[in-house]
Amino acid sequence: MVTRSALIWLSGQEGLKDFATRFSFFKKLTTRFVAGETIDEVIPYIREINAENCTASFDHLNESVDNADEANKEVEEYLRILQQIEATRIRSNVSIKLTQFGLGLDQELAYQNARRVVVDAQQRGNFVRVDMEGSNVTQATIDIFKRLRSEFDLNDVGIVLQSYLRRTYADAQELLKLPARIRICKGAYSEPPEVAFPDKKDVDDNYVKVMQLLLSSGVYHGIATHDPKMIDATIDFATREGIGKEKFEFQMLYGIRRDLQRQLARDGYNMRVYVPYGKHWYPYFMRRLAERPANIWFVMKNIFKG
Ligand SMILES: Cc1cc2nc3c(=O)[nH]c(=O)nc-3n(C[C@H](O)[C@H](O)[C@H](O)COP(=O)(O)OP(=O)(O)OC[C@H]3O[C@@H](n4cnc5c(N)ncnc54)[C@H](O)[C@@H]3O)c2cc1C
Repeated sequence: MVTRSALIWLSGQEGLKDFATRFSFFKKLTTRFVAGETIDEVIPYIREINAENCTASFDHLNESVDNADEANKEVEEYLRILQQIEATRIRSNVSIKLTQFGLGLDQELAYQNARRVVVDAQQRGNFVRVDMEGSNVTQATIDIFKRLRSEFDLNDVGIVLQSYLRRTYADAQELLKLPARIRICKGAYSEPPEVAFPDKKDVDDNYVKVMQLLLSSGVYHGIATHDPKMIDATIDFATREGIGKEKFEFQMLYGIRRDLQRQLARDGYNMRVYVPYGKHWYPYFMRRLAERPANIWFVMKNIFKG
């Protein structure tokens, strides 16, 4: 547990971020969890998983952007991704982070930037998922999402909720009234016990409760987890309630449990792989190590293999 919180703390250290991203030596460590640096590097991978009946979600890594120019560059990158998805006919949508679009500077700026991406996605018949970040921006993220949803359709834009947050069940009930397409995940940030369940069992119990609420809503949602217990609970519930495999999708991260991703796709479930790429890999990479500190050894082994 100490290791986990230490790694999450390190993930937020700006100085280390700059240091790590400057050296190509560190870049080599990231390949387990990061698909490449450019859109062109990612496309062949997505073709490969498409051929195995998995879809993808592009994630351009960058978060907590602290100036409007950089936020604008992020929007332009996403417009290029959407254009490339259409041009190459790969099966992928996109995931965005609002702090990447300037939420830390100005809520209106983040809304306008996200809106530009959703407008483009809508025109191309694609879909934008708004990732959920730390609890300091949960409400702002939901507020911006609701604004977007009031203008765009259910199948244009969706949001993420985290089962470790105490507020999430109520948020899910509220968002389903719109309705909204929701990705449920456990949550990857360090949160105080007032806002998040400190015990894994409570996080898992809440995950199952929210998953059941989502699946019962009749809306197409994303069940994002690598946890076999959560996956079995989802399959059991869907089977019991007569909810077809085509009514929801499982989602997993690039580089994690590829075997299980393939298996679920072979079993006829919709499977989407979240594919991060880009130069600003540091916080994302550190959160992946924090989820499973054993990954540190995996990463170290790769360095010494040369
Ligand atoms: C598609 C997708 C999108 C996500 N989007 C968000 C988001 O918007 N906001 C957010 O806060 N979080 C997001 N997450 C991360 C999520 O919140 C969890 O931190 C992460 O998925 C680990 O939780 P778990 O459900 O896999 O269960 P855990 O209980 O953490 O893990 C279960 C098992 O999965 C495997 N596993 C899990 N993590 C790793 C890892 N890093 N390396 C190797 N094996 C691992 C291990 O076998 C582990 O025993 C997302 C996750 C996915 C899959």
